[in-house]
Amino acid sequence: MKKDTLCVHGGDGAFDERTGAVSVPIYQSATFKHIGPEQSTGFDYSRMLNPTRLALEKAVAALEEGDFALAFSSGMAAVACVLELFSPGDEVIASDDLYGGIIRLLRHVSEKNGLKVSFVDTSKLDLLKKAVSSKTKAVFIETPSNPMMKITDIRAVSEITKPLGIKLIVDNTFLTPYYQKPLVLGADMVIHSGTKFLGGHNDTLAGLVVSNDKATAEKLAFLYKTIGACLSPFDSWLILRGIKTLGLRMEKQQKNALKIAEFLSSLKEVKKVLYAGLQGRPGYDIMKKQASGFGSMISFEVDTAERVRDVLRKVKLISFAESLGGVDTLITYPSLQTHADVPKPERDARGINDRLLRLSVGIEDAEDLIEDLRQALEA
Ligand code: PLP
Repeated sequence: MKKDTLCVHGGDGAFDERTGAVSVPIYQSATFKHIGPEQSTGFDYSRMLNPTRLALEKAVAALEEGDFALAFSSGMAAVACVLELFSPGDEVIASDDLYGGIIRLLRHVSEKNGLKVSFVDTSKLDLLKKAVSSKTKAVFIETPSNPMMKITDIRAVSEITKPLGIKLIVDNTFLTPYYQKPLVLGADMVIHSGTKFLGGHNDTLAGLVVSNDKATAEKLAFLYKTIGACLSPFDSWLILRGIKTLGLRMEKQQKNALKIAEFLSSLKEVKKVLYAGLQGRPGYDIMKKQASGFGSMISFEVDTAERVRDVLRKVKLISFAESLGGVDTLITYPSLQTHADVPKPERDARGINDRLLRLSVGIEDAEDLIEDLRQALEA
């Protein structure tokens, strides 16, 4: 099946559902009864397996071309579970530009638990090669990265990690399998904040992990039932419903984003526009090679910090809010919100300064969005 069909039907037939319901029912049951000892329908207890969640997991696995997926209560729960695959003394290399919550997890939880974490600009393969040691067990990347939109060559990284038995983990939240399939490019695991484009409506939290390696899948399943950060049946249903329109939303959001990126580039108040779809940007050729679209995330730098505050007060249609990927356009101030826990000197060194804003472009009319930005930005 092609991706648009998988968005609508990827969860079909996940379990025996005899009513003929076209929409997967919400199996709001914590537990499932048995006919007798050692006799199970396959569903025992919802922390391990739930029919509604299973349909979602099947849909996302199919879209990512993976064999196995697990749905978590949030993207952070998914990342935390994946990091439990590693042991004290193991080294993890992460992209230096990542969602701030993942940096916080790596620094304040993983390091406390004995992992050694280093942050490297993974868009530069020579730097990555230099950082790898005999203790490196995982490379964690985000591409395009959040919020600086750096592009890492997934296949090239997998050619470094695979021969060394290092697990390559890709956060695919920004592009989703609709535009990028890291497992096909050589990654071992894909992570999503399903809260974002997969759900698509800014109305629920979710996380997903997808893999096509049986041993990894078995370890993750063990950790999953043990840790218990599973997605509820209702939230599973919301994400499953969101995925049905993933293609329509991704295409419209991308179309809007390109227009907005061009508009922002024309303003004298805007000093820098970071959008993966702008020709000539670093990584543009890699994007063309490894993804079938550029997505709808734009970061941009304005002339002064005062203008940032002005814009955040003046936007009307666009909401000043954290998060991304939904039908509503959101504007985020990374240094105050998503990356507030990254120390300021580090933020500044990476370009996450007090003049940087991030836009998650929604499905509204592009002209209305441009008008809102114009009235908020122009001096
Ligand atoms: N990965 C990325 C790229 C994100 O932007 C986020 C959240 O903003 C997460 C993971 C964490 O996901 P959640 O907020 O669903 O826990």
